[in-house]
Amino acid sequence: MFLRTITTPVTDLKGVGPATAKAFAVLDIRTVADLLLHAPRSYEDRSTPVSFAEGLSGRTVNTECTVIAHDWFGFGRKRTLKVWAEDQSGRAALNCFGRNFLEQKLPEGRRVRLYGQFSYRFGEIQASVFDFTPIDDPGDTIPEDFTGLLPVYPATADLSQKAIRSALHQALNRFSSAIEDELPPSCSGGEPQQKAQLLNSLHFPSSMDEALEARRKLAWEELFFLQLGITRRGLAQRNTSRKRRPSAGKLAAAVIDNLPFSLTPDQEGVLEDIRQDLSSSRAMARLIQGDVGSGKTLTAFLAACETIEAGEQAAFMAPTELLARQHAENAAKLLEPAGIRLALFTGSVTGDARRLLLEELKSGHIDLIIGTHALFSEEVEFRQLGLAIIDEQQRFGVLQRLALTGKGDQPDMLVMTATPIPRTLAMTVFGDLAVSRIHTMPPGRKPVITHLAAMGKEEKVYHWLEKEVEAGRQAYCVYPLIQESSKLDLKDAEGMYEALRKRFPGCSIGLIHSRLREEQKIETMHDFSAGAIQILVSTSVVEVGVDVPNATCMVVEHAERFGLSALHQLRGRVGRGRYQSYMFLVYSPDLADEGKQRLKVMKEHSDGFLVAEEDLKIRGPGNISGVEQTGFLKLRFADLVRDTDIMLTARDKAAAILAEDPGLLQPENSLLRRVIQRTAAYEED
Ligand code: ADP
Ligand code: MG
Repeated sequence: MFLRTITTPVTDLKGVGPATAKAFAVLDIRTVADLLLHAPRSYEDRSTPVSFAEGLSGRTVNTECTVIAHDWFGFGRKRTLKVWAEDQSGRAALNCFGRNFLEQKLPEGRRVRLYGQFSYRFGEIQASVFDFTPIDDPGDTIPEDFTGLLPVYPATADLSQKAIRSALHQALNRFSSAIEDELPPSCSGGEPQQKAQLLNSLHFPSSMDEALEARRKLAWEELFFLQLGITRRGLAQRNTSRKRRPSAGKLAAAVIDNLPFSLTPDQEGVLEDIRQDLSSSRAMARLIQGDVGSGKTLTAFLAACETIEAGEQAAFMAPTELLARQHAENAAKLLEPAGIRLALFTGSVTGDARRLLLEELKSGHIDLIIGTHALFSEEVEFRQLGLAIIDEQQRFGVLQRLALTGKGDQPDMLVMTATPIPRTLAMTVFGDLAVSRIHTMPPGRKPVITHLAAMGKEEKVYHWLEKEVEAGRQAYCVYPLIQESSKLDLKDAEGMYEALRKRFPGCSIGLIHSRLREEQKIETMHDFSAGAIQILVSTSVVEVGVDVPNATCMVVEHAERFGLSALHQLRGRVGRGRYQSYMFLVYSPDLADEGKQRLKVMKEHSDGFLVAEEDLKIRGPGNISGVEQTGFLKLRFADLVRDTDIMLTARDKAAAILAEDPGLLQPENSLLRRVIQRTAAYEED
């Protein structure tokens, strides 16, 4: 069978009980197929020895050492064991937080193989996270965990690496022989693909080379099927031409006349690109790339004006209800005075209001509808959808956008993203999309000043924040968790909401995160926009699109837990008005050099494209990830930034096959046809 058709639930595996299954479900892993598709984020090389001293250059220690003494620190319930160990390079302290029972397991004189992350703090080399196995007796066998390459998976606080590895071991043992190849040999270099073997090599490689090779091959397959899909749709689209009525640009001119500012040259350029597209006999398919706040949305509204003036309707899709609402409020200010009839459509529009709205849309009484993915739903019908605008494309899949354009007859499509990806890549990923870029920000914006602060120095940051708030400005404080976790020693939004209320007694403080009810979120955001809330405590839900020009401070604690592109998005929430704005990145004092270097990139670069490039340079080739970073598609193996070359060969191959055999009807393409039919491989989840 094909990998994606293995629907056996993970609970069929030994050791996966209800609790583990629940933890897996958080990662969207329900079936054995989901599990096998859960690619390692990186590998820990436990085969090469690294001493305490060498470990300080940002590498993970992997050493043999002897326990030389025990110490205790703290009092009462917080009394904590500290074990001193020594290897050939010197000594180091093992802080046993919550693990005082190690007193017996690590007696003086014991020799152990030790694996952990060490740093230099308080005048000593120390670690709080470490793993060990005794090696006193010559007969002691060192378990594989300490000698080989260990896969490290994206996990959650409730799911250990061990549990994931064990489940994967079983899944491979049980299903390897059943997994069929999905590529014919002609598509895998003349040799059989051996998909099961590739999965084994990906999850449990015996060398880094083996792991990288397997990942490359799986990525090729993935991108090949993606390109096969995109190219097939592209061919279908190219064969039909778009009927249109002209627009004289009057509506757009009226809206522009009403703006309190003039368009930036880049905005004018994009608008010109769009007008060119709209005068052609093919449907427009264009991507606008530009940093947060560069004015993409306004440009898209102006494109909608052209469509509406030509007598057609436009749809604007945003990734969250919050954003849809904000866009609608903006549109009301900008477009309604020019006579455009607009409506907001989300999951929370229900009952009669929903029915009425859908009727008006169908009869053409609404010119522009702004909404969430609810716009995809079947009941949504247009009189004549002429333009589909999709904001923050990375939140939606490539195929999802096609679902929206399916609601019209060859509608034009405009996609916007703030995720900086190289132009060549954008063109390949989106296959048929042309790209326009906005490089410059609207005038008068002062770049946000970014400061780094080690944890322990937050008070300085809070003091700064206090001064800004006293001056009438507003602030965001962002945390990696919603609630306190027993497993992770991290600050959480709910706890800090309470803590900050005590720290800033005179201030009005709000809390927002994804678990709150939609109405509550909307109310809180409204209060923050209106200035009634001065400090907004949140998780990264504020990442996209929120626009409050009076907010000047963005404090992110445990900044090392966030990706650079997420931090860049967060930074885009401030510096939107005329005031100098600041971002404070508070990081853990345990942070290794590489982590600090990443945060420094934020301090040194304000251009999102540069941030992305620098991030890429730092992520070494051993670190197999990036899918979450780009987040464009739910790709399992391919990294859209790093795998450009793979993408290009996969695209050429797909195009060549389809040029010969558009319907994949030839016998040599029967396997491809079967894969496409049997597994909705890259349909959206
Ligand atoms: P994006 O969609 O790229 O994040 P927006 O279109 O939301 O950016 O613009 C961000 C803010 O900048 C909005 O408040 C918008 O009104 C304002 N803005 C847009 N274009 C200009 C311009 N040319 N000059 C001044 N302000 C602008
Ligand atoms: Mg935006």
